Amino acid sequence: MDEREMKEWLELGLKFHGHVCGGMPLGFRAGLLARETLGVEREPNSRLVALAETGEYHLAGCWVDGIMLATGCTYGKGNIHKLFFGKWAVTLVDPGRSRAIRVSVRNDALEQAFNSPFLKQRLAGVPPSEIDQNLARAQFDSVAAAPNDRLFQVSAPFNFEWKSPETTFAVQRCAQCGEITVTRHMRVNAEGKAVCAACLHSPFDYPEDLVVTRGPEGCCWPTPDKT
Ligand SMILES: [Zn+2]
Ligand SMILES: [Zn+2]
Repeated sequence: MDEREMKEWLELGLKFHGHVCGGMPLGFRAGLLARETLGVEREPNSRLVALAETGEYHLAGCWVDGIMLATGCTYGKGNIHKLFFGKWAVTLVDPGRSRAIRVSVRNDALEQAFNSPFLKQRLAGVPPSEIDQNLARAQFDSVAAAPNDRLFQVSAPFNFEWKSPETTFAVQRCAQCGEITVTRHMRVNAEGKAVCAACLHSPFDYPEDLVVTRGPEGCCWPTPDKT
């Protein structure tokens, strides 16, 4: 990807993300590096899968928007998953070839970012859009321009079996609220009628066969050989 194209994507990312920060471009660079190392194009459909080791409501949050931007693995398409390890790493999986690559942010790059004037204000509780925008832009630009090897560690490609659930097109009306619902997400109530999960007061009752495998135990999952 040339400089002009990267700039265009990052501008789009800024509009989508909503504020200027270092996290979104960091995720974009990580996703792009993962894509290029794995030798895949940006995903137009749901074939590639991204596994982001981040969680929510902490400093690792912003960068997932950049990962989505670079890889085309998005929450809407259902081919990105958070692993809730609270770490700045992403594994990009090509299920068709059973190959994957893991890109993680270097500790020293993170520590440098944590000590930046922008992050100091974030740590003091200032929302990103309310921080001096010159500081925010400086953080954004420094991440966007840094060489890959200053920012990231990249695994060698490794074998990774991944099977996404089949896409279903089956829908029906909930017997209680009447709203059209994906059949696979419905439940049978006490009267034997097919109802939506919301009508059973269990919106997080996710069908077991759809729950994404979180991989083996251990904080460093997956554990490919580092290069
Ligand atoms: Zn952000
Ligand atoms: Zn319902």
